[in-house]
Amino acid sequence: MPCPVSDACELHQALRSSVIKRVRYPHVLPQCEGTEGKQCALYAYLSTGRPVPQGLLPDGSTGDYADRSAGQSYRFMVIEDSQVFATLTASTLRTHFSGATVDVKSSFAAAEPDLRAIQYTAVICGYGLGGDHTVHDVRRVTRAPIVVLTGRPDEIALPSGSRKVMKASGPDALASAVREMTS
Ligand code: SF4
Repeated sequence: MPCPVSDACELHQALRSSVIKRVRYPHVLPQCEGTEGKQCALYAYLSTGRPVPQGLLPDGSTGDYADRSAGQSYRFMVIEDSQVFATLTASTLRTHFSGATVDVKSSFAAAEPDLRAIQYTAVICGYGLGGDHTVHDVRRVTRAPIVVLTGRPDEIALPSGSRKVMKASGPDALASAVREMTS
């Protein structure tokens, strides 16, 4: 059984996107695939919504696996209830932002602890985010730039620091909007 917090785990995502890092830390991904996570030092942080200390490894020691480009690392939050669309969005972000860590949640309620605890490069979400929640709730708990992916052609009131991108515009439109919002 794979670790239930792997989507939010920077170490897991860093190793999945880098052969070099997999070679450097060969025991980590097999552990991620065959555990419920409780034996791992990172799990205690991720499962309770607390930020993971930089470089923390599963055995409690410290390594250097953070991805950085020109001194910057990317970490995105995608809030999307369609698993297919969430996967496509996460894949676009990982392709266009080398080494990016992408956290995926299906609703605002599920994302809120991470939004409060983690400094995201940007949040990518729809307008309605489950229950009565909307993108305005995202702005209430984080100052990160927000890209609102929507299929609605009508005008919608968006919070400050956000930009609308039509879902039908495709992955390149999403990537360029994120790049403009975060540059
Ligand atoms: S087992 Fe540890 S390193 Fe692997 S995904 Fe879970 S928390 Fe991350």
